[in-house]
This record gives sequence, C-alpha cells and structure tokens, in this order.
Amino acid sequence: MTRIFDHPDFDQHEQVIFCTNDKVGLRAIIALHSTALGPAAGGCRMYPYESEADALADALRLSKGMTYKNAVAGLPLGGGKCVIIADPANSKKPELLRAFAQHVQSLAGRYWTAIDVGVGPDDADILAEDCDYVFARASQYEKGFNPSEFTALGGFMGIQAVSETILKLDTLRGLHVAVQGLGATGYALCQHLHAAGANVTVADVRDDAVGRAVQHFGATAVDPSQIHLADVDIFAPCALGAGLNDETIPHIQAKAICGLANNQLAEDRHGAALRDAGIAYVPDYVVNAGGMMGASRIIYSEPSRDEALKKIESLKSTIQDILQIAMRDNRPTSDVANDMALQRIEGA
Ligand code: NAD
Repeated sequence: MTRIFDHPDFDQHEQVIFCTNDKVGLRAIIALHSTALGPAAGGCRMYPYESEADALADALRLSKGMTYKNAVAGLPLGGGKCVIIADPANSKKPELLRAFAQHVQSLAGRYWTAIDVGVGPDDADILAEDCDYVFARASQYEKGFNPSEFTALGGFMGIQAVSETILKLDTLRGLHVAVQGLGATGYALCQHLHAAGANVTVADVRDDAVGRAVQHFGATAVDPSQIHLADVDIFAPCALGAGLNDETIPHIQAKAICGLANNQLAEDRHGAALRDAGIAYVPDYVVNAGGMMGASRIIYSEPSRDEALKKIESLKSTIQDILQIAMRDNRPTSDVANDMALQRIEGA
C-alpha cells in the first residue's frame, strides 16, 4: 500500500489532492508543498507513470522543488506541482486537460498551473478555457515562442557561471557539453551553446530530435544509456529526473553538472556524493528557474519581457555564489542552495 504521511518524499506538504473524472478517465494528483511566500505555482506534468506510487512520489518531490526554486529565485510564490497519469499522445488529452482544469479552478488561486513534460503552451491555453489560474500559455506570447526558452536561457547562464568559476575559462568557445534530452529545454540550450562556439554531444530516445541536433549544431550523438559517460567539460541533464545516482555518479567524466531537468539527484545524499567525486553540481532548481522567472509574472503583475530577461541573467551570479560558498566551506552545492531557500521561506 502507498503511504502518504510517512512517505519518504512527504515533507509536510500543505495539501495533496487526488483528482478524478470518470467520464474522461482522469487520474491526477496536485501537491501543494508551501504557500508561505505566495500562491503555490508549478507546472502540470502528463506522463504514463508505471504506478500510482510513482506518480505520487513525483508530485511530492516536484512540488517541494518548486517551493525551493521559487524561494531562491526571489519570486513571491510558493511551490506546487501536479501530475496527470496519462500518455500525452492519448487522443483524449484535451478532455483530460479540461477536466483537470476544473480541479485547479476549485482551489481558487491557491495553486497556479503551467507547462511541464507532456504539457506544452498550447495545452496551457486549453487548461485556461476552464481555469483562471494558468500561466505560460501560448496565447500570452508572440506566435512560435515557447516559454521553455526562458528556462534554456537560465541554463546558459548556469553554464557560463560554471565555466568561469569552476573551469576558469573566459570564453565558451571550445567548451564541450553533453546534453541529455533534446526537448523544449535541451534543444534550446544547445542553440545557445552552439551560437557561443561550444561543442555538444547529445542523446535522446527520439531519433528525430537527435538528427536535428546533428544537422543544426554539428552535435556528436551517443546512445542515451551512455551520455553520462561522455568525456566532456559539463554534463547537462535535460530529460527526466533521478539520473544522478549510485550507478551513474562513479562513471561521470564531466567536471561539472549543469542541466535543466528537475530532481536530478536520485536522493539528497547524492549531492554529497558529487562533492566527494570532485564534480561541481549546479542545483537543478536554481538553474532551471528561468522559466518561472520569465513566465510567472502574470500571477503578481503585468509581465515585462525585459525585466524578466534581466532577472534570468541574474541567475549567473546566484549560481556563482552557490559554487563559491560550497568550495569555501567544502559543502555540497545542494546543501548551500537548500539553506538559501529555507532562509527565505522561514523569513516569510
Ligand atoms: P520535453 O518533454 O520537451 O523534453 C524532454 C526530452 O527528453 C524529450 O525529447 C525526450 O524524448 C527526452 N528523453 C526522455 N527520456 C530520455 C532518456 N532516457 N535519455 C535521453 N533523452 C530522454 O521536456 P522539457 O520541457 O525540455 O523538460 C525537460 C526537463 O526540464 C524536465 O525534467 C522538466 O521538468 C524540466 N524543466 C522544464 C522547464 C520548462 O520550461 N520546460 C522548466 C523547468 C524544468
């Protein structure tokens, strides 16, 4: 039986809501981790979880990550996240989204939802048909713009921070980065890297995505099971979480890890394992905050693109601070970032 209050990923979440709609076969979980700093905000993931236990664990972990992300990013927002247990290729996707949106609406603004894996900006517009609390919608932006590009810009700031602080480089020209996952964030990160003269090694389970990266960025393609073994300067996980674990960490060749996927550490202790392995890890929820910074302003004020971009660029100095404090005190970077987040939440 799946436990909740003593679940290993339960962290005194304020609310965990199980949402159903029999007519369309909706099964979803909304986890509100904290509203201490403002309404809980975080995306909606649609994924064909193998079990309800996997979905619950993901919702609990992702929502806590959102609380920490929004806190370190200095946003007036708490943390929440939802998961819909379904394959995004399901022909009933719009009906599932509409049914789910009614559950979010019933929370009357305690939780704002948005995009995540399996739910894109066009889907966010579908959610908004039945719900007032949706951001990162396609209709908010000029045609063709995907707010994941804000996230990718933050990732690029992180790569610059690592290059200067850890690798002591004054240019990205010739830098070698391994990018795992070529979706909305990973592909856009490759675009920035390529434009800056860096080399990319890539992997994705989708051959079409790999083909595009090879063609447009001159990328070297490797098997998805081998990408963490690539002999590169920086490893950038941009697919799903838990990729930094007991099996992968001893074999990682990169000197630093800076990628956009959520929940990269399989367990908190892997932050210390990376420190012990001499690998500088940029905490995922810090470097991937660009999307929230760029897209969430609609929740608390009118969005101004320039202000959002400036805020995303400031991620570089936040990340440099974290890396420097961790080096000075010989602490895992993940602990340093967690302390920053907790200080802000407890001060609220
Ligand atoms: P996406 O669905 O657009 O892309 C994910 C890509 O990873 C897909 O191309 C998929 O085929 C690939 N993939 C899946 N399993 C893989 C594997 N084992 N090896 C290699 N590739 C694999 O998702 P996204 O929006 O780019 O998000 C990626 C990660 O970044 C997620 O963890 C997401 O939660 C996180 N994130 C995204 C945003 C955003 O703005 N989109 C913001 C913050 C965090």
